[in-house]
Amino acid sequence: MDTWTKLIEESKLEIKDIMYANKQIGQFNFNKVLNAFVAHKVTDTDLSGTSGYGYDDLGRDKLEDIYADVFKAEDAIVRSQIISGTHAISLVLLTLLESGDELLYITGEPYDTLDKVIGESKSDFGTLAYNGVAMNTIDLQDDTFDKARILASIKENTKIIAIQRSRGYSIRKSVTIAEIRDVIADIREVHPDVIIFVDNCYGEFVETEEPIEAGADIIAGSLIKNPGGGLAKMGGYVVGNRDLIEKVSYRLTVPGIGKEMGASLNELHAMYQGFFLAPHVVIEALNGAVLTSHVLEKVNVKSDPKFDAPRTDLIQSIMFNSAEEMIGFAQSIQQASPVNSLFTPVPDEIPGYTSPVIMAAGTFVQGASLELSADGPIRPPYRLYLQGGLTFEHVVYALEHALCNHLKDA
Ligand SMILES: *Cc1c(COP(=O)(O)O)cnc(C)c1O
Repeated sequence: MDTWTKLIEESKLEIKDIMYANKQIGQFNFNKVLNAFVAHKVTDTDLSGTSGYGYDDLGRDKLEDIYADVFKAEDAIVRSQIISGTHAISLVLLTLLESGDELLYITGEPYDTLDKVIGESKSDFGTLAYNGVAMNTIDLQDDTFDKARILASIKENTKIIAIQRSRGYSIRKSVTIAEIRDVIADIREVHPDVIIFVDNCYGEFVETEEPIEAGADIIAGSLIKNPGGGLAKMGGYVVGNRDLIEKVSYRLTVPGIGKEMGASLNELHAMYQGFFLAPHVVIEALNGAVLTSHVLEKVNVKSDPKFDAPRTDLIQSIMFNSAEEMIGFAQSIQQASPVNSLFTPVPDEIPGYTSPVIMAAGTFVQGASLELSADGPIRPPYRLYLQGGLTFEHVVYALEHALCNHLKDA
C-alpha cells in the first residue's frame, strides 16, 4: 500500500464511530422518506408524468404531498419548472415581500447569486429593491446568531426574517437545526407573526430534523443538491405553510392556476427515485467530508469544519498556501471525476464575483453539487470549497488522487 492509501485507511478506522453515527441519521431519514412513499401509496403510474398543460398530474401532486410530509409542512411545490435553488429562494422573496416591507437576513450576507435578486436601487428592474423592499443583514456573532441585535433590529415593517442554513461560500459557520430552533423561539416570543424563511440548500437530510420542525414557516432548496439524490436532472422545491405556498404558486405560474398546472414530462421518475436515494447519498457525501477533514488535518492542511464538529451541510472548505496549490487540488478533483476527467479547469471571471473563480465539476448533471465538486475564488486565504460525492468511494478515490498529486511534500 502506498503512503496515501495507508493514511486514508487509518483515517477511516479512526472516524468509524462518527461515520456510524451519520449512518444512523441516514437510516432515520430514509425511514421518513419511505414511510411517506408508502403512506401516499406511490404506484408505477405515478412515475410516468404528463405533457401539455399538465392537468391532473397525479404523480406530480403526490410527490409534492410526500415532500410536505417529509419536511413536516402543510404544502409543497416541487417542480422542474423551478430552474435552480436561486429561483426557488427568489420565488419566496419576490412573492411575499411587497413595497415598504423589510427583509432581514440574520446569517450575514446571503449567497452570492441572490445579490442580483435583491438589487441595489429602484432602477434595477424586477429586483426586491425595484419593488420597494428594504434589506438589512445581521452577521453571526461568535459563530452563532446575534440574538440581541436581531431582536433589536426587527421593525414594524420587517416582513420576512431569512436564515441561510449552510455557509455557502462564505467564511462563517453553518447554523444547525438546534440553533435555528433556538433563535426562532426567541423571535416568536416578541414577533409571533413575522414570516421565517430558511434557505435550506445543502442542508437536507444532514440532520434528523428540517427547519420547518424548528419553527420556520417556509423553506426552499435545489433538486440538483441533496433532495434530488443525484438523479433529479433539474428542479427546485418550496415547502411551508399552505397560505404561503399558494401565493408562491401564483407567482411560479399565474393567479388562479397556481399548482394545478405544469406538465412534469419525463422528470418524475428521477425526482421520485432521487428523493428515495437522497438520505443515503447525503450520508455518503457527509462521511466523505468527514474523512477529508480528518485526513487533511493529519497532513497539516487547514480545513473547516473539523472532522468531529457537528454538521448541518455538506461543505468542507480547504485552505491552501498559494493559488497554485489551490488550483492544483481542484484540477485533481476534476481528473478524478466520472465525466470530463480529461478537462482541466482554470480560474475565470464570473459575474458577481470580485476574483477569478475555479470550478472543478465532472458531474453527470451539469452543476449538480451533490456530486463531488470543488470551487472557490482565487484570493487569499485560498479557500477551496469541496462538496458532494454520490458515493463515499468516489470521495476516497479523489482524495487519494489529490493528495498524491499535490501534497507530496506536506
Ligand atoms: C447553491 C446554493 C444556493 C443557490 O442555488 P443554485 O441552484 O446554485 O441557484 C443558494 N443558497 C445556498 C446556501 C446554496 O448552497
